[in-house]
Amino acid sequence: MTMNKPQSWEARADEYSLYGFTDLPSVHKRGAVVLTHGEGPYVVDVNGRRYLDANSGLWNMVAGFDHKGLAEAAKAQYDKFPGYHAFFGRMSDQTVMLSEKLVEVSPFPNGKVFYTNSGSEANDTMVKMLWFLHASEGNPQKRKILTRVNAYHGVTVVSASMTGKPYNEVFGLPLDGFIHLTCPHYWRNGKEGETEDEFTARMARELEETIEREGADTIAGFFAEPVMGAGGVIPPSTGYFQAILPILKKHDIPMISDEVICGFGRTGNTWGCQTYDFTPDAIISSKNLTAGLFPMGAVILGPDLSERLQAAIEKIEEFPHGFTASGHPVGCAIALKAIDVVMNEGLAENVQRLAPRMEAGLRAIMDRSDHIGELRGIGFMWALEAVKDKATKTPFDGDLSVSERIANTCTDLGLICRPLGQSIVLCPPFVLTEDQMDEMFDKLEQALNKVFAEVA
Ligand code: PMP
Repeated sequence: MTMNKPQSWEARADEYSLYGFTDLPSVHKRGAVVLTHGEGPYVVDVNGRRYLDANSGLWNMVAGFDHKGLAEAAKAQYDKFPGYHAFFGRMSDQTVMLSEKLVEVSPFPNGKVFYTNSGSEANDTMVKMLWFLHASEGNPQKRKILTRVNAYHGVTVVSASMTGKPYNEVFGLPLDGFIHLTCPHYWRNGKEGETEDEFTARMARELEETIEREGADTIAGFFAEPVMGAGGVIPPSTGYFQAILPILKKHDIPMISDEVICGFGRTGNTWGCQTYDFTPDAIISSKNLTAGLFPMGAVILGPDLSERLQAAIEKIEEFPHGFTASGHPVGCAIALKAIDVVMNEGLAENVQRLAPRMEAGLRAIMDRSDHIGELRGIGFMWALEAVKDKATKTPFDGDLSVSERIANTCTDLGLICRPLGQSIVLCPPFVLTEDQMDEMFDKLEQALNKVFAEVA
């Protein structure tokens, strides 16, 4: 076909590419941002404009956009053994080493790892594992999945069904048997006069009542992000996991921690479940796993599920599941290097050291504004929620698209941050310095002041 290429990069992006999760009218008005490279936490577009990416790409580029050691690890592995699978009893040495490493750094005394290409596929894989092992143990009806409203678990048919967002209705999702409990967001969902402890107790009661109503013998598992990410950075209410875990245990329902965002340092510890002091039955990992350099996800099973799955597989001799690029040697080599970089080259420490500074800076911005109702987050993941009225927590009229306008104004100023609902999310790369953090505060506050002056 003869291509009729438009002149500008922005128009070319629009002509032949489809965007995911993009407000199309806004992009048509403003033009796409087409990027060529990155420098530390900055990305640079085709016109040479630099943006501080306070989104870390999509939470994942934790080591920044030009980490030499990671690129060298990838190149060395491409030169040595550029691709293989993990089927038929064969896998690369890198895959073997990464599984050992993941179990070693996991909160589990032992376990097993299965690889995918993404976080969505890792959640789908986990659901299939649960369905498979419950059926093998004589409980084929144990299939329902519990998650929460506002949870984000991915976009494949199963993981989208787990996601507690109304936008999936356009696909006729969720599938039957995916149940969404109340989001444990005390500031927004707490009742008049209810203390945070009472709110947490109500969340636990809702879980118990749901299990009793549905029947524990019909529920395959409960999935939760330690801190909800794409739902708007929502940390759990105080004592939430301590309240719900005993209920799940009592009813023999496995608890899966979706650590696609929280894993490898984002909350200040290796895992979000460590930050919130609970031990799940399995962990879902992706994104930071390869510091964003390779599409890869992993299911890390704790000892109980490992043993039970192994027994179920042995009964029929094979687990009929896997992706062509499961355990890809280049992805595994990058992940091994990324874990080392995050844990041993000061990145996780940088998050721990600078998290209080980030919180204080954002709190000062909130205190100076009449239209920021809540600051929430931990480590290097924070959200500021815009409100029309601070005292009553009344949101702005949705038609005003306040958070999108703030994010667009930030982009104009050279700062990338993300609008989520009425919140602005900041989740910078772990390599961020104090000066870069100040640049982030400064540009964000300029944008907030400008947009609030227009809409308030
Ligand atoms: N789980 C969580 C908690 C996520 O944040 C995401 C992605 N934002 C996913 C799963 C899905 O991962 P992917 O986009 O790699 O499919």
